[in-house]
Amino acid sequence: MACDPITLATPGVRGLQPYQPGKPIAELERELGLLNIVKLASNESPLGPSPAAREAAARALHELARYPDGSGYALKAALAEHHGLSMSHFTLGNGSNDVLELVARAFLTPADEVIYSEHAFAVYPIVTQAVGARAVVVPARDWGHDLRAMGAAVGARTRVMFVANPNNPTGTWCAATELRALLQSLPEQVLLVVDEAYFEYVEAQDYPDTSAWIGEFPNLIVTRTFSKAYGLASLRAGYAISHPAVADLLNRVRQPFNVNAVALAAAGAALGDVAHLEASRRVNREGMQQLQEGASARGLAWIPSMGNFLSIDVGRPGGEVYADLLREGVIVRPVASYGMPSHLRVTIGREEENRRVLDALDRVLK
Ligand SMILES: *Cc1c(COP(=O)(O)O)cnc(C)c1O
Repeated sequence: MACDPITLATPGVRGLQPYQPGKPIAELERELGLLNIVKLASNESPLGPSPAAREAAARALHELARYPDGSGYALKAALAEHHGLSMSHFTLGNGSNDVLELVARAFLTPADEVIYSEHAFAVYPIVTQAVGARAVVVPARDWGHDLRAMGAAVGARTRVMFVANPNNPTGTWCAATELRALLQSLPEQVLLVVDEAYFEYVEAQDYPDTSAWIGEFPNLIVTRTFSKAYGLASLRAGYAISHPAVADLLNRVRQPFNVNAVALAAAGAALGDVAHLEASRRVNREGMQQLQEGASARGLAWIPSMGNFLSIDVGRPGGEVYADLLREGVIVRPVASYGMPSHLRVTIGREEENRRVLDALDRVLK
């Protein structure tokens, strides 16, 4: 090819840095020939999904030749019941990442600005830049979103603001009063996307119930996922809750069959298994305490987290400690690309998995 394809790409795509996923177990096995690898790098559920979700997924395998229900009727009906809202408020996504991208495609042009926080989830810069919009990154406060400063950053060109609550990779969360004050201060042409991927794990008393605000704020979009506490990351199912007019616009840019039938069936069944979700929360609560105490006992600081992960300051370049941990058969997540060069993000695992990480840290940090 005479011309470099990069010159053909849109300006946004030219400068795009692809998302860096956690290292797959099979890759580390291949590279180092290790067995018994512990992966706590992608905020996956150590319990996995509800047995009811597995069974629903298995049943859906009998119909693989058919297209899925493009409207996702059954799942949306279950979500409507779950949230006490009508079905017209929901948009289904191939994971909630898909929904974040739908927001960018439906609402952003290169003339628009998007506000998000320093240390915020990596998908916000990607979807913003992919459509050529301009990112306004607001400095964090104590690792968390500074909602006042984010509100103050709104200008005539601001169209979307992303708030991760809790945020990944910091685990920090925003209180109901502050988030509500932000919403009330926003001009109505600014859409506030509140990304609640870790909603089910949150135990903070001051955490908002944003789905109850949907009727009040037509510019509020709340996103949720089945990837984390419901243990279905592999199937890719997430959704947005919004004003029906916003949902209608998101559905216009959605691929007709963006959520597959196995995911639809499993997600619906997962939603109904309250006991499994409670078990998932309990394992997280206990593992969180184990990791926090273990880190503190080793003199390592950590950022208080409401997610299913803990970002620990290892006091030296995180990338080096990450690489040393790989040789111990332990995969965690380096977060230097999030502006956190001495932190490692560790997903909460089962007791023995958490212990493996702490023991490996002892050897690596000594
Ligand atoms: C994991 C995560 C998501 C969820 O991604 P899916 O596409 O639903 O798997 C969304 N937002 C944040 C902040 C996350 O950490």
